Amino acid sequence: THVVTENCIKCKYTDCVDVCPVDCFKEGPNFLFIDPDECIDCAVCVPECPAEAIFAEEDVPADQQEFIQINIEMNESG
Ligand code: SF4
Repeated sequence: THVVTENCIKCKYTDCVDVCPVDCFKEGPNFLFIDPDECIDCAVCVPECPAEAIFAEEDVPADQQEFIQINIEMNESG
């Protein structure tokens, strides 16, 4: 799956939502997250993000690893 990281917080752009072919971005309290069950890893969203906040799960920077779990928890909480 792909993961949304810290730079997304309070970002007002939704370029990623517009390009995602499976519409798997969901709105959190102050950022977007990705439904890992729906993401098809097409990577189309990565260059579209003006905040450079989206990474493939295996490419998430070391200081952003917590966001992998945050994406999962956001989805579980509905
Ligand atoms: Fe959507 Fe593709 Fe980005 Fe996954 S990688 S969130 S399917 S645009």
